Amino acid sequence: MNKLEIHSPNSPILLTASLHVDEARKAIASLVSDLLTESQSRNEAGSVELVTLDQAINRILAEDLLSPIDVPAADNSAMDGFAFNGDCLSSKDDIVTLKVVGTAYAGKPYEGSIGKTECIKIMTGALMPNNCDTVIPQEFTESSDSSSVTFKQNQVKRGENQRLRGEDLQSGKAAISAGRLLRPSDLGLAASLGIATLKVHRKLKVAILSSGDELRPLGQALDAGGIYDSNRHSLTGLLNRLNLEIIDCGIVRDDPASLKSAFLEAASLADVLISSGGVSVGEADFTKQIMQELGDVGFWKIAMRPGRPMAFGVLKPADPKNPDRKSLFFGLPGNPVAVMVTFYQFVRSALLQLNGANQTEPPLIQAIAQTPIRKKPGRTEFQRAILERGPDGRPTVRLTGSQGAGILRSMSEANCFVILHHDQGNIAAGDWVDVALFDGLL
Ligand code: AMP
Ligand code: MG
Repeated sequence: MNKLEIHSPNSPILLTASLHVDEARKAIASLVSDLLTESQSRNEAGSVELVTLDQAINRILAEDLLSPIDVPAADNSAMDGFAFNGDCLSSKDDIVTLKVVGTAYAGKPYEGSIGKTECIKIMTGALMPNNCDTVIPQEFTESSDSSSVTFKQNQVKRGENQRLRGEDLQSGKAAISAGRLLRPSDLGLAASLGIATLKVHRKLKVAILSSGDELRPLGQALDAGGIYDSNRHSLTGLLNRLNLEIIDCGIVRDDPASLKSAFLEAASLADVLISSGGVSVGEADFTKQIMQELGDVGFWKIAMRPGRPMAFGVLKPADPKNPDRKSLFFGLPGNPVAVMVTFYQFVRSALLQLNGANQTEPPLIQAIAQTPIRKKPGRTEFQRAILERGPDGRPTVRLTGSQGAGILRSMSEANCFVILHHDQGNIAAGDWVDVALFDGLL
């Protein structure tokens, strides 16, 4: 039996011995890709919408954004200085002196003509006058006053310090490609082209719920054995980074009937359901039973820490209007740090992929471990750490105290994960390690 065939129709639910993180990611990506193909073949209406730039942050661009204009629209100066015709640079004299005949400002061009021994004073962004092709920056001149400027020929080459028409973007070419997760710079870029609205993929609807008899909502006093439900709140924060529609399905008790109706309702409302808790060895049995009735779900033991148990697959709520409807399901482990790690490692990319993004993986950087880190080969570890600059200016990381899967403070104090890969063993102080920054992601 192929452990990746978790989504084939009527496949038995799998309990894989120990799944490599990369295999889990591949299985998720391939299921999401199947779902995308299916929904494209249904050609669902309303899958794209037009939003204003201010609403477009963190949405995913649905079509290439074609530039309606050349940028810059005309040749202009890249520096404050003096614009002239480069013919004068071919003279034998080392020193060039030009007469200043006017000034060009950004938004206020110089419209007169300029002779071979003349120039104008020009500001950054001002249009280049007719027959000028070179700018000598103010700071490279030998001397200048309102009537003349002198500079050495070797300070500038013909054509330098001007920005040419269409140098950044040409009319009709893609300024931003489809699939881009829109960032502030993209909104500015669209605005610079005079574009006020963007076609983006519709917001994914993501339902979240927490399962566990011990969980209490905020505002209720804690009884013996009760704990506050923190996972729904960290998940809400994580999902808000992606500008999605969140459907909060609250806390569900650990009993099959409540879980079944909660999963069914969530799946009928949302594209994706993310639950936490109830998938560890002690509890998975009745969750599995429910999942067998509702869809195709694999129960995985992933070779990672934290985040070992996880359920993943599709739920198929009976919907007479839409018999082919499927929701993606992530059953994350209950431990609060494991929720965030599995979200980072698996859920985030899947949501982006499902929403049409072409780049779903957050970047890794490298830093020097300040202290030794113990690590067993054979699993991927996500240790919480602080990335900072060492005394020699190089990036270093130090772990944030106790690394238990339930200790949220280790996440809250951290600004990054140190990712210790599957085959890596112990890390010595001074070794380079891979680091994933939280900023903007977690
Ligand atoms: P479970 O995966 O359900 O066995 O839960 C593992 C641990 O995480 C247990 O200590 C739970 O009490 C805790 N836990 C589960 N769900 C939550 C939650 N929503 N908020 C905080 N802790 C939780
Ligand atoms: Mg539980």
